[in-house]
Amino acid sequence: RAKEEGRNTFCFFSPEISTATLGDLLLENDLFGALDRQELLMYYQPKVDAGSGEVVGAEALIRWQHHERGLVSPEQFIRLAEENGLINAIGEWAIRNVCAQQRAWLDAGLLVVPVAVNISALQFAQQDLPNMLAHVLADYGLPPQLIELELTESLLMRNSARAALVLDRLRKMHVQVALDDFGTGYSSLSYLRQFPLHALKIDRSFVSQIDENGEPVRLASAIIAMAHELDLVVIAEGVENEVQANYLAAHGCDHFQGYFYGRPQAVEDFGKLLAGRRLGSVA
Ligand code: C2E
Ligand code: MG
Ligand code: MG
Ligand code: MG
Repeated sequence: RAKEEGRNTFCFFSPEISTATLGDLLLENDLFGALDRQELLMYYQPKVDAGSGEVVGAEALIRWQHHERGLVSPEQFIRLAEENGLINAIGEWAIRNVCAQQRAWLDAGLLVVPVAVNISALQFAQQDLPNMLAHVLADYGLPPQLIELELTESLLMRNSARAALVLDRLRKMHVQVALDDFGTGYSSLSYLRQFPLHALKIDRSFVSQIDENGEPVRLASAIIAMAHELDLVVIAEGVENEVQANYLAAHGCDHFQGYFYGRPQAVEDFGKLLAGRRLGSVA
């Protein structure tokens, strides 16, 4: 562990706790410069239609290309950014970056798909998200249908009244919102009725339980059925194999996302995927 952390690590106290803490501190310190040094970037993971297999959208997943550590995952630095207040700047960067990219793909004549951006709970609580988004969309002359948002249950539960108002404004702007990681929180589907959501993403933990025996997975099919009752589009996250895909398709799941269909990929690679889509539709 200490070796991994590199030469900046002090080893004279308990390595278990201290290296993690010191590592966090060093990382946090670097995070302040990450935006200025342009070390943040977006990867794009395709979402495909369960029936046709066509790419129907993408999720933008942030990465930090650290000058010494290489690619740092969002699991490691989003939490730090929430603690030190950088999350608002990073959140705005994420939306601006994706809008700029969509504009570039449009200008290149590509057949673009809607791209979803993840919103942190703290960012949602602190920012006027609809207002910020409206400004950025206008800056790039982008149709609002090309940007979607992914929010979590805990975010909606933390301040339901305000969340419902914000989602209402987003709906009026024609920006679609999906509920991310569904099933990991405590809310029931009927509780979600009060929010104008477009889609629900079944958490990977349910999808990964689907195997040949298929016993514990009834939950996934129940979620799909109830979500459809609420007129929500259902997206399965973390689909890694054909057994999972077939099971979910048989139970009416609308869209798939996961390594089986495509890893999160660098912007150039996703651009090539879009270019191929265009050729396909012209032929
Ligand atoms: P998420 O929004 O639930 O994103 C899905 C995560 O599952 C991504 O991890 C993705 O790479 C991973 N994944 C996709 N397909 C598979 C699969 O088939 N198998 C497995 N094992 N994993 C799969 P990633 O990119 O590390 O992102 C982790 C989390 O970080 C995201 O979870 C999201 O909550 C957060 N995040 C990512 N980008 C942003 C961002 O721009 N802003 C904010 N606030 N949070 C972000
Ligand atoms: Mg997400
Ligand atoms: Mg998710
Ligand atoms: Mg997740």
